[in-house]
Order: sequence, then C-alpha cells, then structure tokens
Amino acid sequence: MAASTKLPAFDPADPLGIDDLLDPEDLAVRDTVRGWAADRVLPHVADWYEKGELPGIRELARELGSIGALGMSLDGYGCAGASAVQYGLACLELEAADSGIRSLVSVQGSLAMYAVHRFGSEEQKQTWLPRMAAGEVIGCFGLTEPDHGSDPAHMRTRAKRDAGGDWVLDGRKMWITNGSVAGVAVVWAQTEEGIRGFVVPTDSPGFSAPEIKHKWSLRASVTSELVMDGVRLPADAVLPEVTGLRGPLSCLSHARYGIVWGSMGAARSSFEAAVEYAKSREQFGRPIGGFQLTQAKLADMAVELHKGILLAHHLGRRMDAGRLRPEQVSFGKLNNVREAIDICRTARTILGANGISLEYPVMRHATNLESVLTYEGTVEMHQLVLGKALTGLDAFR
Ligand SMILES: Cc1cc2nc3c(=O)[nH]c(=O)nc-3n(C[C@H](O)[C@H](O)[C@H](O)COP(=O)(O)OP(=O)(O)OC[C@H]3O[C@@H](n4cnc5c(N)ncnc54)[C@H](O)[C@@H]3O)c2cc1C
Repeated sequence: MAASTKLPAFDPADPLGIDDLLDPEDLAVRDTVRGWAADRVLPHVADWYEKGELPGIRELARELGSIGALGMSLDGYGCAGASAVQYGLACLELEAADSGIRSLVSVQGSLAMYAVHRFGSEEQKQTWLPRMAAGEVIGCFGLTEPDHGSDPAHMRTRAKRDAGGDWVLDGRKMWITNGSVAGVAVVWAQTEEGIRGFVVPTDSPGFSAPEIKHKWSLRASVTSELVMDGVRLPADAVLPEVTGLRGPLSCLSHARYGIVWGSMGAARSSFEAAVEYAKSREQFGRPIGGFQLTQAKLADMAVELHKGILLAHHLGRRMDAGRLRPEQVSFGKLNNVREAIDICRTARTILGANGISLEYPVMRHATNLESVLTYEGTVEMHQLVLGKALTGLDAFR
C-alpha cells in the first residue's frame, strides 16, 4: 500500500464498506424506500402489531405502488424494471420496518405478479399486472393447504373441466398472506394434466377468504384461509405456460431471494437498537456497552449481519446475471433468516427487560422472523435442498 494512501474512516453502519458495491441508482432506490418506511410505517407499526391488524392496507399498497415497490424487478406492464439488487435493497429497508410490510410486497410482487408475468397469457398480464403494480389490486398466492405445507405435491385442491370448457375449483388453502384483502388470487390445484395455476378474481361466487386471527407473529400482516367451493372459472383462467410443481416453486424461489435481503433488515434494526441501548444504559457505574461480554455480542452480531448482507449482494448479482440457482437461494434463505433470528435474540438480551417491550423493535422482529423461518420453505426443507445438491441423494422422503 502506498504510504500516502488515506484509508476511509471506519463506518459502524457499514463496517465492510459494502455500500461501495452500490451505484447512485441503487442508493436512490434504497433512500426512497427507507424514507417511505420511516414516514409511513415506523411511527405506527408497534401499535398495529399490538392490535394485530394492518389498517389502511389498501392505501399503503397504493403508496408502495407509487414508489415502484410492487413487482419491482419485473419488466413492462407498469412495473419498475429494477435490478435484482435494487429489489433486494427495497426488501431490506421494508423489513427493517416490519416483516409484515415486506411480506405484503413479496407476496404481491414475487408470488402473485411474478406468476402472472412469467406463466400468464398476454391477456392475463394486461388485465392484472398494471393495476397490481399500481397497488390498486392486491394479490395473494395460494399453495399451502391445511394438510399439505412442505409437501405441496400432494395438495387436495382440485380443478376439473366441465363439459363447456369452464373450470370448477374446489378446495382449501391455509396461511395465505393478503388473502382477505386480495382482489385476485393465484391458486394452485391438481388437474388431470398435473398441478396448474389459476387466476381467480376473489369476487367469484363460491370463493371466500376468512382471516386467521390469534397469531403471535407477523401481527401487522393479513393472513387468511382461502375456501373454494365450486368456484366456476372460464377456460382462460388457467396460467397457460406451466404445468407441474415447477410453476409455484419458481415463484417461491423469487420470493425467497427477497427474504435473503429482507431478513437482514430485521436484523439490522435489532442490532442498531442494541448498540444504542448498550451505549446509554448504565449498570455498575458505566455503560453496559463498555463491558467485554456486551462487546463480544455486538461484534458477533455485526459479523453475521454484514456477512449476510454481502451474501445477499452476491446472490443479487448472480440473479441480475441470470446465473442464480435455486440451491443458492436456499443457501441464502437458510443462513440469513437463521442468523437474523439469532441477532434479534442476542439484541433482546442486551436490552434486558426492555427487550421484551414493544417500545423497542427487537421482540417484534424476533417473533416476526419465526414466521419467516417457516414460510417459503422451512429451515429443514432448505437443508434438504442443499443436502441433495451436495450428495446427489434425495432425503425428502
Ligand atoms: C404468517 C405466514 C404466512 C404465510 N403465507 C403463505 C402464503 O402467502 N401462501 C402460501 O401458500 N403459504 C403461506 N404460508 C405457509 C408456509 O409456506 C407453510 O407454513 C410452510 O411451507 C410449512 O408448511 P407447514 O406449516 O404445513 O409445516 P409442515 O410442512 O407440516 O412441517 C412441520 C415441520 O416438519 C418438518 N418437516 C416436514 N417434512 C419434513 C421432512 N421431509 N424432513 C424433515 N423435516 C420435515 C418441517 O420442516 C417443519 O419443521 C405462510 C405461513 C405463515 C406462518
């Protein structure tokens, strides 16, 4: 190193200098989403969480549409056409506010819109995507059933063609984000040709979506059951471009990619709360951040947080280059959500009794992440995906 080289100052918010990887457009996206969340979510989210509701969800969806956050990395049809890295940065900023808000955006963009964008007919795309990108129509994605979660191949929901060519859909879906506020549901069902996806307007006779209450996680998010009792759909309601589990699994891969980033947002928020607390809380006559044991916790949290963000960047660049494999997404989801929960739990210990209070974000993030750990493939499913890729042996059954 030349003697005259001046090292940049150490930045506690970005200790590895990861921001150097971002260009001005990336930074602008990040600032816009961070600003929106600071203004529209952070002042209210503890209250929403305590009440177990997301009031004004339709207004929030329209605002998210206006900042380009819905279907953000999709092209055309009113979508922002952002890069995968920019979409990831948006997920991180939204989840730093609350995993429920990031879930709203993930399900809308990466599951419902992505399914229509990738596998839909031109008419389906024209009908739904511009209004979904604008947040005028909320979408949901029905794969999980009461008796089939990790194993969707055995789903019971069934669509049959009747004599006139219409489809008739019967079954139940469970744990569906955005279900009761959705105007359109992408529902996966068994057919004679294998699993197919259906675009279902939620005002179709026979369709209902009762909300699931009594959740202790993702409380600022709408979660519902979908009940389909003889729902009659026109022949062109089916997504024409895919048959089989490949359809829902490729949507899930896209959404999981957002979680790789998003989970680091929840971790960052908890880490920052812990640092602030450690600097101001005094015990034994000095700030608790001055004790070596607290510093060891903070150092380990920072290492995992920024390793996780680097991993997210790496996967984002691979996605932008069209080189991201599903096993690599599993790698990221497995690591980052697991580490994010660990960071939140350690932050909780630093805050002592205050750590369990909703006045601080830490416990809210930790309990939210329990859902994030399970949805979009549990830890065990991602271990099995990686185990299979590493050994060539399928241990799923
Ligand atoms: C808040 C929330 C929102 C959600 N939103 C949606 C949504 O919008 N759309 C949607 O379709 N779904 C959604 N889900 C459902 C979610 O994807 C499922 O909960 C998840 O796939 C796990 O399914 P399950 O809960 O039925 O658990 P199960 O599949 O019953 O698994 C229970 C346990 O058994 C383990 N297990 C299962 N099989 C094996 C095996 N072969 N080897 C080892 N261990 C195994 C699992 O890892 C897990 O630990 C949501 C869930 C939550 C909590």
